[in-house]
Amino acid sequence: MRARVYLDWNATAPLRAEARAAMISAMDVVGNPSSVHAEGRAARALVEKARAQVAAAVGCKPAEVVFTSGATEAAAVLGRLPVGCVEVDPTAHDCLWSQRRDGEGRRAIGWGYANNETGVISEAPDRAAGVPLMLDIVQAVGKVPFSFAWSGAELAVVSAHKFGGPKGVGALIIRDGVEIVSALTGGGQEMGRRAGTENIVGIAGMGAAAEAAQRELEAGVWDEVAEFRNILETALSSGAKDTISVGKGGPRLPNTLCLIAPGWKGETQVMAMDLAGYAVSAGSACSSGKVRASRVLQAMGYDTALASQAIRLSLGPGVEKDVVLRFADTWLAQYRKALDRAA
Ligand code: PLP
Repeated sequence: MRARVYLDWNATAPLRAEARAAMISAMDVVGNPSSVHAEGRAARALVEKARAQVAAAVGCKPAEVVFTSGATEAAAVLGRLPVGCVEVDPTAHDCLWSQRRDGEGRRAIGWGYANNETGVISEAPDRAAGVPLMLDIVQAVGKVPFSFAWSGAELAVVSAHKFGGPKGVGALIIRDGVEIVSALTGGGQEMGRRAGTENIVGIAGMGAAAEAAQRELEAGVWDEVAEFRNILETALSSGAKDTISVGKGGPRLPNTLCLIAPGWKGETQVMAMDLAGYAVSAGSACSSGKVRASRVLQAMGYDTALASQAIRLSLGPGVEKDVVLRFADTWLAQYRKALDRAA
């Protein structure tokens, strides 16, 4: 039997060896980073090392990094900017934007810089003076060059498990000088911005993964990923002419292919490919388990039927050319069968 093939890197990436090693050694660190004794200082040193590693990968200052339990919590930590209505901006092709209002009615814009379903990269819209911008750079970090310093955003959210760190750890990046009122108060950790004893094992893993991811990015590893994604895209779209490759030709993550297969439901595609040995996704993992058309694709103008017939293939380093070509053969054969059954 062939080994399974993992093509769902946007849902989560495999743990990097560097992250695993850092986590294993952090498990033996006894101290609490807030303690002043030697054991505490050793734990503190580990957290600060990781803070510098994450800052280097994100292009911000170490002091701008606040560790959280993930990107979702990073956004929720902003106590005075509670999650409000999430709207689809009709002018913004594929990105969901949310507007949050604080007690004084100030708005913040939350903007997905790289979309997890389509891989499409889009800059945030212009905003009025005084409206803070929070960028979701979860999918961008480690896959494309990004600099928080140059982005102009006040805030950004990051998640370790998307670039080979452990799940359940992430960061809120807060621009120097921007004040937030944290929803998590208590012990005053993270300079009063995220109370709670630090998850030093997860943080050490995140730091090591960030450093390895940055090194890999600079070495051009993702250029080859893009090449294989393009080979896959060509094989699928030339074998099935009615398919639509979403976002092709525009700025996109190097690893992502969102393909609409008219007449074949996304969930059915996922099940068929799972049985054939491939892990793929029908849409964002955040909404998986729920059978519904992709909101992102609908916002881009696809009708409900097409928006429920998409598959997301997301590659990573090490996914070889012969693997993507074999996937294409299998998928095309299954698609033909599905269309025959429907005829
Ligand atoms: N933002 C994007 C674009 C994502 O793809 C995800 C994926 O899970 C999240 C945020 C949530 O991150 P976390 O799982 O760390 O809460």
